[in-house]
Amino acid sequence: MIYPILQIALDVPLDRLFDYKNNGSLVKVGHRVLVPFGNRTQVGVVLKLKNTSNVNEAKLKPIVQAFTDEMPIDTETIALIEFAADYYQYPFGQALLNTLPVRLRQIKPAVTQKAFAYSLTKLGLTQSLAEIPKRQVVMQKVFAALLSENRLSDAQLNAIASTAKKAVNQLISNGWVEKLVIEKMPEVTHIASGQLPILNAEQQTLVDTLINGVDRFNAWLLHGITGSGKTEVYMRLMQRVLNQNSDAMQEIKPQILVLVPEINLTPQLEARFKARFPNQVFVSLHSNLSESERLHHWQLAQSGKAQIVVGTRLSVFTPLPHLKLIIIDEEHDSSYKQQDSMRYHARDVAMVRAKKRDIPIVLGSATPALESWMNAQTLSLQPNKYQLLSLSTRAVSAAKLPHIDCIDTTKVNLQQGLTPQLIAALKLRLARKEQSLLFINRRGFSPVLLCAACHWIAPCTRCSSRLVVHLGQKRLRCHHCGHDQAIPKQCPSCGDADLKPTGYGTQRLEQTLAQLMPEARIARVDRDSTSRKNALVDILDRVNRQEVDILVGTQMLAKGHDFPNLTLVGVIDTDSALHSPDFRASERLFAQLMQVAGRAGRAQKAGQVIIQTQFPDHALFNALRQQDYASFANNQLKERQEVQFPPFVFTALIRAEANEYHHVQAFLSYAFGLAHNAHQHVMVYDAVRPQMERLKGMERGFLLLHATQRSPLQRLLKAVVADLRGNAIANKVRWAVDVDPLEF
Ligand code: ADP
Ligand code: ZN
Ligand code: ZN
Repeated sequence: MIYPILQIALDVPLDRLFDYKNNGSLVKVGHRVLVPFGNRTQVGVVLKLKNTSNVNEAKLKPIVQAFTDEMPIDTETIALIEFAADYYQYPFGQALLNTLPVRLRQIKPAVTQKAFAYSLTKLGLTQSLAEIPKRQVVMQKVFAALLSENRLSDAQLNAIASTAKKAVNQLISNGWVEKLVIEKMPEVTHIASGQLPILNAEQQTLVDTLINGVDRFNAWLLHGITGSGKTEVYMRLMQRVLNQNSDAMQEIKPQILVLVPEINLTPQLEARFKARFPNQVFVSLHSNLSESERLHHWQLAQSGKAQIVVGTRLSVFTPLPHLKLIIIDEEHDSSYKQQDSMRYHARDVAMVRAKKRDIPIVLGSATPALESWMNAQTLSLQPNKYQLLSLSTRAVSAAKLPHIDCIDTTKVNLQQGLTPQLIAALKLRLARKEQSLLFINRRGFSPVLLCAACHWIAPCTRCSSRLVVHLGQKRLRCHHCGHDQAIPKQCPSCGDADLKPTGYGTQRLEQTLAQLMPEARIARVDRDSTSRKNALVDILDRVNRQEVDILVGTQMLAKGHDFPNLTLVGVIDTDSALHSPDFRASERLFAQLMQVAGRAGRAQKAGQVIIQTQFPDHALFNALRQQDYASFANNQLKERQEVQFPPFVFTALIRAEANEYHHVQAFLSYAFGLAHNAHQHVMVYDAVRPQMERLKGMERGFLLLHATQRSPLQRLLKAVVADLRGNAIANKVRWAVDVDPLEF
């Protein structure tokens, strides 16, 4: 039926939908359409088919075009995005359009990637192999394959012989074979990997529990140290889900969504999944894909053709009609939280999605977020929301947990920032032909340019931050706004020429190591060395081929990678995080150190971790030495409860920035007034400035709101945001609401 009026969501910063006249198309809810908006044409998504409009219909414009050949976005996905837009206080239309692949936001039809396939014609089916001359070996093979497979893809054809194409063309001209245009599919290997490992007792118990609850909503927190075999457990559960062919007649195949942090989408994980599930269609969704690949993968997910979808945070909104399981690996990772536009948390959205669909969800981590940890505890009378599952030992029995030493840097003479103990340990590994990893916590430990005479430190003019010395390129750079300049010859403040980098960046450390151990082969992993596409993969390959002795790097190295010959991890300096004003800093540091420590001694060889610090007796290090996440987390929770910080309260920020601070101030004090008068169950604090007061030339400030329950905070935000959206005072600033912020 053709409806005359269409209600449409558009990518505009207004929290409303728009009515248009239909142009006679057979449109469905979820179809993309082109509409005139202002003086240009925009892509919209149809949300409702109507007979009448509340707007004067004479004023309604007709749509320009409807892409009715495309598969509409399903209502379940739309409802999920609507929920997220509502919860994160973001205009629904913008939220919806921004979850789509870029190609679907462009004003043209979406192309599906095509491929060719070959199958026998009616005539071909009546032929037999004997009719092909014996010496036409390739043609014989191609024909035999067609008889047994029904249909061959280009890739299958190429696998038969390099000249198979020629043979098939001959068969086409005989009228035996026809060429078909089909949707392009990722190659499946069909080759099963070797034997499955035998699960240890702990793993087996967990797998049994998971499989028991696989047919309904269940939220599990899988807590297991690195190398304890979490991925193996995920894969057993995945196998089980993939086996439950929900409708064998209609060939509906279950789909699985695996969310991974941005830097964890390693070829290693992909290879493992492909080897374990050789017959399943696997696609990935992340920012390293080209736009057409991304669209293609998204379409395979949407059409139900992809069984396993592995993606970064945005993929939580991917349409998956037969979704049966969600897995979130490294669930504590902060890259699951979007830091601009709609500031959603993919883990929290995934939880809602699983609940709405009544399917299971597994959150895995060696160091769960305190939010998740609390949800898995039976605190007070509240029933626990997640079920806690633990793996306490490393899966490969010979792989011992690394030994962790904290070296007091105040008691020894440092050589270019390195303790004698660490240098000796590095030399020992070099002699044994084992590998080492030196880890620098990037935050706060980048080298800055210091004037020895007047203590001037090169600042960024656009941010409240210091410029970072990049020795290799002889440049100063701001890591916040990208500002880039030459290293000055003399101090702009006092004119002295004695300017020196201070602090131990990756580049300086690399130089120091080269001086101390000229025979060592050193590789550096940081933003500079990995900016080229595939650079990181190349470096990691070299490490795997044993062409690297010492790997120097930032948090990019902390996780995911598995190097069997790596037996030493050195942590250069982390003390700033111990005393950071950010209340989540120690949670992050602990997680990070557990992760890096997990890089040491993954296989047969025992690992050692050396942490250089001025505070070797700090409670965090004590818990780390015991590899005791639980006691660390419980202590942290106690502290947070005492001071009423998340996860014991729900928070939101109203952020604003402008060229001049007084605009920010005016805006925030107006918002403060609104919020303060609105609700007694929500605490509203006075406007403050973030640690980074100025960023990219903008002056910044925010209001913090907190409440012991979600719903009053949500109601208040809704009212405040509605007022601010229509208010002229908001025009002078850029503002945003951040619900459940990670940093403030
Ligand atoms: P995690 O995901 O917790 O870091 P993995 O699942 O990657 O752990 O397991 C770590 C290593 O141990 C991998 O090489 C994996 O193949 C191996 N492994 C896991 N479970 C077993 C098992 N039951 N028996 C033998 N090896 C195992
Ligand atoms: Zn000076
Ligand atoms: Zn800057």
